[in-house]
Amino acid sequence: MRANRHFIKSVFTYRVLLLALVAFCCLEPHRANAQRISIGLYDTCSIQELCVRPLTEGYKILLNGKLRELEKEKELRIAFQERMLYCTQGAENLQPSGHVALLHTDPNSQFELKLLRPQGEARTYEGNLSLFVDFGRIMCINLVDQENYIAGVALAEVGGKAKPELYKAQALLIRTYLMGNRTKHLEEGFNLCDQVHCQAYKGSASKYPYILQGTKQTANMVVVDGAGELITSVFHANCGGQTASARDVWLTETSYLQSVRDPYCRRARGANWKKTLSLNDWKRFLQSKGVVTERINNSGYLYRSETREGMYELPGGIAVPFRDLREYFNLKSAWFDVTVEGGQVNLSGRGYGHGIGMCQEGAMRMAEEGKTATEIISFYFRGARIIKLERAQ
Ligand SMILES: [Zn+2]
Ligand SMILES: [Zn+2]
Repeated sequence: MRANRHFIKSVFTYRVLLLALVAFCCLEPHRANAQRISIGLYDTCSIQELCVRPLTEGYKILLNGKLRELEKEKELRIAFQERMLYCTQGAENLQPSGHVALLHTDPNSQFELKLLRPQGEARTYEGNLSLFVDFGRIMCINLVDQENYIAGVALAEVGGKAKPELYKAQALLIRTYLMGNRTKHLEEGFNLCDQVHCQAYKGSASKYPYILQGTKQTANMVVVDGAGELITSVFHANCGGQTASARDVWLTETSYLQSVRDPYCRRARGANWKKTLSLNDWKRFLQSKGVVTERINNSGYLYRSETREGMYELPGGIAVPFRDLREYFNLKSAWFDVTVEGGQVNLSGRGYGHGIGMCQEGAMRMAEEGKTATEIISFYFRGARIIKLERAQ
């Protein structure tokens, strides 16, 4: 799909018009300041057919520029041929249209979206839905209230069982990312995608009122660095007891992304891992990095470290970045001990994820111990501050 981006500009104006229309249709006068953003749903999936079902009264469908009522709970199946969408509702075939939108004036209105080809689970979303054909698939764009979106991402990221202060911390980071990346997919006609490329989003968190409460209590608040710039609000599952610095992983020195010792996540489920690899594969990779393995005996590969290090040091003064080993061997983290037994390399690792920024399992524990969202953010992002934006962005 990404390879087709050179087609994008030709349909860019068309999409902007569509989105403007959807935005216009969905705003009631008293909600004119409600912040909505557009999210490209199932961004990596080639959707051929889908089904939508309004869960709230009052949805309208826009077909060929005309609005008609859409009955609650009544399924609408949508497939396409060429660039036209074909909708069927029960036995009725609706008029084919290049663009279909589900519109509601209430940002908390809900609809269910289920993929039929390929098959997918039914998910509940809030707000409006805009559909059109591009890249040989149905493009699905959800125009959603910003706070509902933030709550949805928080649910996708940490599930529904954490403490309120963790949801507040997570909401601050999600909002900070959103504010700094709203143009990431603009040329495709939406703000952010729903994949980890941007932030994982699988729909509404309305069944978890305290998640939405966490986002509302931090409304318009973002995290900035000492210079007042939005931070790179990264997080990961578990740091293994010490977070990684941006310098070691991304090779960029970032004042607030330093390595910190984390006593909170050591007993969590993501804290430890093991993996066995063939010694030959290990050697082959090291050779590709310029290591002369003929000069190293098995004990030369041993490595043990109580602290997170950037480089795997080998005899002869050669070192290979742990992040390269992690990437090549698809390891859970870039912090591990190495032992050799026969023709095997045994890795014993700590943590899960890149290790930079907030450690989610550590933050979860901090919230359980009564720490506030501000304390959690300050612990993982040294020197960062939480500020309230002057006005809604
Ligand atoms: Zn994205
Ligand atoms: Zn941690």
